[in-house]
Formats: sequence, C-alpha cells, structure tokens
Amino acid sequence: MDKRIPFIAGNWKMFKTIKEAAEFAEEFKKIERKDGVRTAVCAPFTQLQMLKEAFKGTDIGVGAQNVHFEDEGAFTGEVSLPMLKELELDYCIIGHSERRQYFNETDETVNRKLKKILNESAITPILCVGEDLEQRENGCEQDIVAAQLKADLDGLTAEQAAKTVIAYEPIWAIGTGKTATPDQAEEMCGFIRRTISAIFGGETGETIIIQYGGSVKPENAAEIMKKEDIDGALVGGASLIPEKFAGILNF
Ligand code: 13P
Repeated sequence: MDKRIPFIAGNWKMFKTIKEAAEFAEEFKKIERKDGVRTAVCAPFTQLQMLKEAFKGTDIGVGAQNVHFEDEGAFTGEVSLPMLKELELDYCIIGHSERRQYFNETDETVNRKLKKILNESAITPILCVGEDLEQRENGCEQDIVAAQLKADLDGLTAEQAAKTVIAYEPIWAIGTGKTATPDQAEEMCGFIRRTISAIFGGETGETIIIQYGGSVKPENAAEIMKKEDIDGALVGGASLIPEKFAGILNF
C-alpha cells in the first residue's frame, strides 16, 4: 500500500494585496522546511499569477479558492476553469463552508464544479465538508458529512475520487480558536475514509488524502498530524504569517 504523503495547504481567504502576498512569498521561501510534506497556498484570484511566478522552481503549490462550473458566460464576478488552467494552478478549494454559508454554494454546485475540474483539468480539487455547531450538538455530524460526501462526489469515478483531497472542517472550529480535539478530528476523518471506501472501494479509501481544518496552529499541528486518518491540514489564519505556516509544516 502506498503511504499517503502529508499535505498541508494554506487558505488565505480574503486576505493580502499582491504586494503583501509577494512579501509573504519572499519570506516563506527562505524558511527551512522538513522534507516529505506537500504544501500549497490557496490565495485570492488577483495574487495567483504573481504567486505562481514567485514559487517557480520550488515545491510550493498554488491554488484558487473557487471556480465556476461554466467555461464562460454572463456570470458577473465569477472566474472560470479555463482562466485557472491558463495560470497552471495546482489546486482549487471547492465548497468551503464560508462559500456555502455566505454565497449560496450548494451540494449541487459543488458537485458540478468538482466534475468540471476533474474532467477537464489536472488541477487537484480540495473539497471541504463539515458540520455546524448545532448539528454537532444534536449528534448528527456524521449524517451531515456523509450526505455532503455522497452528493458532492456523485458521478465521479473511483480514480477521480482518489485524486480529490477532502478537507474536514467543522464550522464551529473555523476562526474561533476552538480546535476540534485531535480525537474528534480523527473520528470524523476515519468516518470519511470509511464512507469513501463504501462508495468507491477500499483502495480509494486507503489512498485518498484527508485534511483537518479549523484553528490549526504550530502549537497543535503535531498532535493532529499524529492521527492515523488525518493526512494533512487546511490552515486559515495561521497560514498568513510565513513563520507560523512554516511552523505547522515543520510539525
Ligand atoms: P482557521 O485556520 O483560521 O480556523 O480557518 C480554517 C479554514 O477555514 C481553512 O479553510
């Protein structure tokens, strides 16, 4: 069985100007990082071209945070897959809870976007799933996540599912400083792996990369990364500061 390579990505959300992002890139490149950890920064659209250039010749990937499911059209404010492909991006986050919460993203649009990326590009999608506080308190978090996975991954081949990175991000742990305990995160990531195995077969379940996201910082990264079914992290706030992000990568 192939060992799953740890993958820790930053999600910059709506932070940094091009100038600030360039300063980050210069500093981040200088910091020594341990081998064997895949990394990327998912930045706002305006910074992507500059970041691709700045990270050329390094092992640092660059990703977008969203894409539209049509190639072109009258969709004011949206960005298409051909536009991202032109930048030779490595990753694209899909279905982040903030997009689901504030921008009307549904499992149906998430599914269309995932299929678009996987059918028509070499970009690796990072699919975000996770329950909110009320759902966790009601004890139905696994039902919620299972339903998201089933709907979001509908119609994918096993090979396409295996290429997808899943990020488990409990909404109550995002930007709150309230991390899920490593055991809570592991429990859900194990559940996600078993759910993927049930839908796409055991081999896909064993190879798929599953990240945890929600208040990951240098201080808690090692404990989280130790868990069997957690292969990486999707990092918000702490990925904005080069030393902090590198500290997580050096868990
Ligand atoms: P924080 O690390 O800031 O909690 O954000 C997590 C997240 O939403 C990453 O996508």
